[in-house]
Amino acid sequence: MALHTDAAPVSSLSVHRGRVLTFTADPGAHGSPDSYEYFEDGLLIIADGRIAEVGPAGALLAKLPRDQPITNHGKRLLLPGFIDTHIHYPQTDVIASGGEQLLDWLERYTFPEERKFANAAHAAEVAEFFLDELLRNGTTTAMVFCTVHRASVEAFFKSAARRDLRMVAGKVLMDRNSPDYLRDTASGGNRDTRELIERWHGQLRLSYAITPRFAPTSTDIQLESAGRIAREYPSVYIHSHLAENQAEIEWVKELYPTARSYLDVYDRQGLVRERAIYAHCIYLDDEDRARMGQSGAAAAFCPSSNLYLGSGLFSISAADQAGMRFSIATDVGGGSSFSMLRTMSDAYKVCQLNRDPVSSLRAFYLSTLGGARCLGLEHRIGRFTPGAEADFIVLDLEATPLLARRTASSSTLQEKLLVLMTLGDDRAIESTYILGKLTHKRVAPREAMPDNRS
Ligand SMILES: [Zn+2]
Repeated sequence: MALHTDAAPVSSLSVHRGRVLTFTADPGAHGSPDSYEYFEDGLLIIADGRIAEVGPAGALLAKLPRDQPITNHGKRLLLPGFIDTHIHYPQTDVIASGGEQLLDWLERYTFPEERKFANAAHAAEVAEFFLDELLRNGTTTAMVFCTVHRASVEAFFKSAARRDLRMVAGKVLMDRNSPDYLRDTASGGNRDTRELIERWHGQLRLSYAITPRFAPTSTDIQLESAGRIAREYPSVYIHSHLAENQAEIEWVKELYPTARSYLDVYDRQGLVRERAIYAHCIYLDDEDRARMGQSGAAAAFCPSSNLYLGSGLFSISAADQAGMRFSIATDVGGGSSFSMLRTMSDAYKVCQLNRDPVSSLRAFYLSTLGGARCLGLEHRIGRFTPGAEADFIVLDLEATPLLARRTASSSTLQEKLLVLMTLGDDRAIESTYILGKLTHKRVAPREAMPDNRS
């Protein structure tokens, strides 16, 4: 995109100055220096909600008119917005409900909570809170589970549309092994999914995901119908869970005795393809991983959830060896934080237990461009490249006294990023921009204090 054309008046530009980081490739286990562009004093130039240019301030300032306003972020870090590839908005209010592993946790906390989403007003209220919380945490795109109720999907998409967010979401399909009040039928789920695709998929920045909860709660007939829809609408996403917990896997074996593996239950219905995201993927064998890699389906690595529910440890080295794509995701409410920084910190710890090194560069890649690649959206989001949508965040590396102190004593970019993901959380997200517009600004504690002098 050209900076100066007769058709684009200077007033449509917005210019941000600060430290600028954007990835161009997967840094791999050791953080390849060829995988990113970093400008210690950089400029991000936005025209009409899209990235126009990015580079060193020294070179780019000379190209701008002298009276061009510039937002100077000083030593703050400008980064493409985080992409959370697996999260449940109706589980916002079950976060931090503990004491159970997956199957009991669903029965005890999640299903009763999801029942409330038959009510459109409740769904709308939670959707608003949820999206506020994502933006407060610097997450600008997410792959989102709704509930079995159409009202939950309508509420979510309406709220995301009003904010002009790039979001992927879908109605849960669940026609067995679940409470009466949350069960659909294969034909009802099929009809609702088709109608919701026609209504929402491709509207503004919204995309639809065919969303069977997981193999145990769908009949083979429902999965077959989901596969048929997936073939008819190749640009629609598929979103489900896979190989999260040992008891779950035993249950799948009983329910689908002829399937080669849990993955095969989905695969034989045509549900393993590009634009399919499977959360967890902890207990896959090499054949499953190779099949994931070859098909273009991707895994959402949910370290906080996997620790919180005691599910197990995802192996990034096994995924790498098989050529399987993956990104990092929170899985709220099994996950215990909306913050991708905190989730990256948990990813680091899971990788330590597996003796799998994960560099800080790679953790940030997996939470930005890596997520966009899993969604097939790398030409639109996750990277500062001309023409990309200007969803970005400003990170404060001095947000807390400890973060400021430890940042000051770190020298390389890798080190600073490791400090940020280890010590940072929502307090480090100073601001969030959607299509170049400021949509969240952190209120510093001292600004929030009443001014007693007046
Ligand atoms: Zn989940």
